[in-house]
Amino acid sequence: MDYKRFETLSLSDEEYNHYKANEIDYKKKHSKLINKARESSKPEKCYICGKQCSSFCNSHSIPRFILKNISDNGMIHTPAWFIKNIPFVDKEVGINKTGVFKIICKECDSKVFTDYENEDNYKSIPTQIMLSQIALKNSLKQISKKQLESQLHQEIPPPLNISSIEEMPLEPILQYMFAQFITDILDTSEAIDDYDYAQEFLKILSKSNDYRYHIGYSIKLDYVVPYAFQSQIMLTHDLYGSIINRNYDMSPEYRIQNIDICVFPLKETSQIFIFTRSDFTRYSKFYEQLNKLSQKDALSIINYIILVFSEEVYFNPNINLKLSEEKELSDCIAKVAEIIDIRSVSPNEVEKNHMNRFSFSNHKNIPNLLSLEFQIKGE
Ligand SMILES: [Zn+2]
Repeated sequence: MDYKRFETLSLSDEEYNHYKANEIDYKKKHSKLINKARESSKPEKCYICGKQCSSFCNSHSIPRFILKNISDNGMIHTPAWFIKNIPFVDKEVGINKTGVFKIICKECDSKVFTDYENEDNYKSIPTQIMLSQIALKNSLKQISKKQLESQLHQEIPPPLNISSIEEMPLEPILQYMFAQFITDILDTSEAIDDYDYAQEFLKILSKSNDYRYHIGYSIKLDYVVPYAFQSQIMLTHDLYGSIINRNYDMSPEYRIQNIDICVFPLKETSQIFIFTRSDFTRYSKFYEQLNKLSQKDALSIINYIILVFSEEVYFNPNINLKLSEEKELSDCIAKVAEIIDIRSVSPNEVEKNHMNRFSFSNHKNIPNLLSLEFQIKGE
C-alpha cells in the first residue's frame, strides 16, 4: 500500500488549484467546525484559580516581549510560510494572534508567569521558578489543545478504511489533511500530571530551595536568532539511535516523558535551553551527547528537533534563504509522522521506520537557523 501521498502537508498543484477556487467555501466550513468545537470544549472555570469565568484571557504560549523581538511591523511568519500548497493555515499572523490559548482568567494570566515573562531575568540561567512557570504554561497549552482536538475529532472522524485514501475525492482529502493537523494522542492525563507537578512546586517554592527541573542544555548567544520557540517535545530516540520513549506503547502504565525546549530571541542576545522534570530520567544520555558536541553542532541538532517535531515555531519575516535552503526547510517542515497501518506491522518495525524517517544523521541537511549566519540584522 502506498501511503506516500500523506507523508507531507502539501497538496498537489491540481488539488491546491481546486482548493483555491473554492477557498471561501472551504474556509467557511473549516471555521464553522473550529468554532463549534471551541464552543463545546470551552471550560466554565479558570483552570488555575477555579473561579467561574465568562471571558477567558488570550494567553500567549510565547511571551509577547519575545515575539516582539522577531516581528516586523507586528507580523510573524508561521511554519506554513515555508510550505507550498498548504490549505487552511495562515502563513503570517499578527503578534496578538500568535500561539494563543484560552483556558485561564485574566488575573491568573497576569500574575502567574511574571518571572519568566520579564526580559531582565535572562541575564543568567533561568531559575527554578522561571522553569516551573514555563512548564506550567506548556502543560496548560497542551491541556487546552487536547480538549479542542478531542472535540474536533468528534466532528471529523478520520477515514476508517485507510486503504481507500488514494481514491478519495478532494473534499475528504482536505478533511483528512485537516485532521492531520490535529495530533493523534488525545489523552490529557499526562499534560494534567505535568501541570500538577509544576503547580505543586510553585506553591512550595517560596519556602524551599528544592529543585524540580533539570536543565540538560543551556546556551546564551550574543546574537539574535530569527525564530522563537517554547514548547514540549517528545523524543523517541537519542543522537545515536537508542530508544528514549516508546511512543507506540499504548499500555496505560507507560508514561511518555517530554522535554521542554525554549528558544528566546532577546533584544541583543538569545537564550536557548532544554529542561525536564527531575523525576524524568530517560534523557540523561541524550543530554550527555548534546553537551559533548561543538556549539555549532548542538545548535544544529536543536534546530532540527524543533523544525521536524513541532509546528509551534514563529519566524522573523526577513530570513534570507537561498533557493535550495528554502526547499530543504520546506521538505522538513511539511513532513508529517508516517502513516502506517499499525495493525499490520510489529511495534519494532514501526519504531525502526520512525527512526529512519527522523534520524538525527539528517540534521545537517537543513539550514541551521540558530547559527550566526542567520542572526537578525539590526534595522
Ligand atoms: Zn484564574
